Amino acid sequence: MEGALTAQDKVGVQDFVLLDAYTSESAFLDNLRKRFSENLIYTYIGTLLVSVNPYQELGIYTLSQMELYQGVSFFELPPHVYAIADNAYRMMCSELNNHFILISGESGAGKTEASKKILQYFAVTCPMTESLQRARDRLLFSNPVLEAFGNAKTLRNDNSSRFGKYMDIQFDFKGIPVGGHIISYLIEKSRVVYQNQGERNFHIFYQLLEGGEEELLAYLGLERDPQLYKYLSQGRCAKEPCVNDKNDWKTVSNAFSVIDFTKDDLENLFGIIASVLHLGNICFEENQQGCASVPDTHEIKWIAKLLGVHPWVLLEALTHRKIEAKTEEVICPLTLELSACARDAMAKAVYGRTFTWLVNKINSSLVNKDFTGKTVIGLLDIYGFEVFDKNGFEQFCINYCNEKLQQLLIERTLKAEQAEYEMEGIEWEPIQYFNNKIICDLVEERHKGIISILDEECIRPGPATDLSFLERLEEKVGKHAHFETRKLAGPKGRKKIGWMEFRLFHYAGEVTYCTRGFLEKNNDLLYRHLKEVLCRSKNRILKECFLVAELENRRRAPTVGTQFKNSLSSLLEILISKEPSYIRCIKPNERKEPSKFDNFLIRHQVKYLGLMEHLRVRRAGFAYRRKYEYFLQRYKSLCPDTWPHWRGPPAEGVERLIKYIGYKPEEYKLGRTKIFIRFPRTLFATEDAFEFS
Ligand code: ADP
Ligand code: MG
Repeated sequence: MEGALTAQDKVGVQDFVLLDAYTSESAFLDNLRKRFSENLIYTYIGTLLVSVNPYQELGIYTLSQMELYQGVSFFELPPHVYAIADNAYRMMCSELNNHFILISGESGAGKTEASKKILQYFAVTCPMTESLQRARDRLLFSNPVLEAFGNAKTLRNDNSSRFGKYMDIQFDFKGIPVGGHIISYLIEKSRVVYQNQGERNFHIFYQLLEGGEEELLAYLGLERDPQLYKYLSQGRCAKEPCVNDKNDWKTVSNAFSVIDFTKDDLENLFGIIASVLHLGNICFEENQQGCASVPDTHEIKWIAKLLGVHPWVLLEALTHRKIEAKTEEVICPLTLELSACARDAMAKAVYGRTFTWLVNKINSSLVNKDFTGKTVIGLLDIYGFEVFDKNGFEQFCINYCNEKLQQLLIERTLKAEQAEYEMEGIEWEPIQYFNNKIICDLVEERHKGIISILDEECIRPGPATDLSFLERLEEKVGKHAHFETRKLAGPKGRKKIGWMEFRLFHYAGEVTYCTRGFLEKNNDLLYRHLKEVLCRSKNRILKECFLVAELENRRRAPTVGTQFKNSLSSLLEILISKEPSYIRCIKPNERKEPSKFDNFLIRHQVKYLGLMEHLRVRRAGFAYRRKYEYFLQRYKSLCPDTWPHWRGPPAEGVERLIKYIGYKPEEYKLGRTKIFIRFPRTLFATEDAFEFS
């Protein structure tokens, strides 16, 4: 035992389930730290993979590593993202069912890298025919394009995905990747018009300016220097040494050609990107009537040219508003402030819808109509719980999303666990866990939930404000056990709640939200006047993004919150029928540094990722289960009856073996095809005996 303890002391255990003091958070962190300091960034909790971002190249993603993990059973090799990928792939091939791999964690934790590693693993290790190589390349090359338009440098991550992404990889019956489909969630449009200090706009703007050909820039009316553009320079880091925009432009241009973008597509697309930059540089001035005017129409003319709209119509739409009175339309001038809002709203709407167009366009290049009856592996790379000092509408949506995904985990994992015990004929004891459905309901229930209350406030005639929204919340969900405001504060001693704030008790912990901006962000309004201009644009992409039918349809478009709720509910429908695998990513420190293990920060993530609870649930049943064949194969040397060969049925061999090494009846159960071991220490001791035998 001592020998093993030394080994464990040094590199930790590769599965948290094997930890002796499994319920203690400090033992958990200890194990994570030990492994991290040995550059072992991966650890399992059963079949869930915990990954700590190494912030350095570790040489563990080589071709030979990929080959190593191919077709090898889970526990025989050190934990790896390839093992997760391979396991899903093998099961899909043998059982012909669908899978998904959910990757979560906070920004900078390594989600996107993990999903790329998985995609590469499939691209390299799956069988391939010549005719399907193009399909595979498209899958791979869709990534740089999406990243250029959807990722940005933030304080937390130099290449932060500012949207959630679900990607299906479709396989034919031979296990060859033949196509794919992507769904995007909540692209952060506000970044187009504003960036915090030290942050940038989406990569594509800088790539275009740094790398775009002379003629292209001349055609778009753009200068090379990003600092000349207001939308690119507010974060004061338009020029960023850690990002190579020029090189990335080449990658993106190449990717565009692989995924079949025509010259015309690109002209239209970059016409829009350039228009956004021109928009940002429009300056408004107050005229004598106190209304907005544009003294220099240089930018307006460029936008008009690139988007195929009339310059004066655009100018009017930016500085005026149409109000529909009973029988006629009245046009009234906007103030300086409102004009600037209208301009920014236009930039956001144009960029947001173009992004959606881009995803659709990529999808049309990824479909493979020749294959029916495919199986898929879905990759979900989505924001984890966010808890900042100030949390707004975005955090509210993101955290709601995580509640829903937790529901999925409960459904799929506990159900799967139960099903396995039943299948194996093992007595099953119900596992205690917190079911967070109550929180999901609080947020999403029709007419009663927070999103509905917000929507009502958004359409209510009369002066609705972020404060009146808060009051409605107090009125309608104030008594809910998972909700609190300053007025309805619970026990004293908890962190103070501000005037405009409400607090939710999420399954992972409490988060305080400030309602400031909720109404506006949920409404996401674009003045009708501007919408009309965009609907009449001659730019081919905008024509597809802004349909004239939208003008005729007098019904309000669903709010951002409701749209998100709906898209989450269809995501869950997609996922619920598939077999799950989970990867939880952890960021080791805030400074993007290798080898630095910030205990405080990691403890926080362990909590919000729900890892302790997961471990507890995992442990509450049987810590370990192994097919008789595998178990016997590994440990047969421990018993003279089974060594070197056992000729009878594996189940009997295992029974003989564990009697010989002294398993007590309460320590294990024998199922139809597997041995179930209750306590980690049992297996640990066996493993120990094996290693030193
Ligand atoms: P997230 O998608 O969770 O926000 P990313 O996957 O973009 O985070 O990772 C942020 C950065 O961390 C990457 O750009 C890369 O530099 C580094 N990184 C992440 N995972 C790994 C890894 N497995 N090996 C080496 N570096 C990594
Ligand atoms: Mg990411």
